[in-house]
Amino acid sequence: MDYRKKFVVQPGAKVHLAKIDPSYTGEHETHAKAVPDIEKHRERMDKLQYLLYADGQQSLLVVLQALDAAGKDGTIRHVFSGVNPQGTSVIGFKQPSPSEAAHDFLWRVHQHTPGKGEIVIFNRSHYEDVLVVRVHKLVPKSVWSKRYDLINDFEGMLAANGTRVLKFYLHISPEEQLSRFAQRLDDPSRRWKISESDYSERKLWPAYVEAYEDALASTSKKNAPWYIIPSNHKWFRNLAVSQIIADTMDEMSLKLPPTRVDLADIRRKYHAAVRAGVKAKRAPSAKHG
Ligand code: AMP
Ligand code: MG
Repeated sequence: MDYRKKFVVQPGAKVHLAKIDPSYTGEHETHAKAVPDIEKHRERMDKLQYLLYADGQQSLLVVLQALDAAGKDGTIRHVFSGVNPQGTSVIGFKQPSPSEAAHDFLWRVHQHTPGKGEIVIFNRSHYEDVLVVRVHKLVPKSVWSKRYDLINDFEGMLAANGTRVLKFYLHISPEEQLSRFAQRLDDPSRRWKISESDYSERKLWPAYVEAYEDALASTSKKNAPWYIIPSNHKWFRNLAVSQIIADTMDEMSLKLPPTRVDLADIRRKYHAAVRAGVKAKRAPSAKHG
């Protein structure tokens, strides 16, 4: 199954999250059956990241957006576990600091976009400025409603500069969210994550759905697509995200750069003498042996 085709938000299409089953698992009925594929995609990502880094011409920006407990952190931990930390970084976006808030909403984001050869993962992003900001009325509609075009221009500029932009919305149900909050309560190692606001935000679920639907529909572009990933099953989420990233990187025509030296010359100048020396050393011991 090609999950890029299945989960992409077609540019210009309306989005109805209620019509998308967050528990979808497709042809893989169980986690156990999906494990070999998840491993395969992770290995592909590892190899492709090496090529991206060596090639040094393009970059990849992965944006993760979701409601609380939908698995942004878990996706980063699992899907990127194979890639080399050299050349990959994760940037989390929290409430803007006073200095960030004093600038335009893309200011704090732009300085973290990937340089050539790099992968950057955004754990939340500039999309918060049309999501939480809209839901909580932190700025008037006249301000946030202009941001979709600004985001499209910004991401179009990144794409024109050689950055692949991939955006994932991790789609869970309110029931699954509550059950994950309950698991946090029962797990001493994860209790620190709980906040009162996690629960109060649940009352705003319909407002978030509306804000997400508008954001996904207004900003999914050919050069910066959104994917809606059914995420009630963590393993399926990992499978779909890793396949989509690996397939995208496959298409980037990444290649090893040409060698910058004359290999024969280097062998002769720096290695031939060493080899001859090794042979010379071995020869007498052969006599004794
Ligand atoms: P967490 O991801 O759980 O660490 O929480 C980060 C918090 O920062 C979330 O509640 C986000 O909604 C909030 N946040 C991120 N970006 C913005 C923003 N631009 N404006 C207001 N709140 C934000
Ligand atoms: Mg949180």
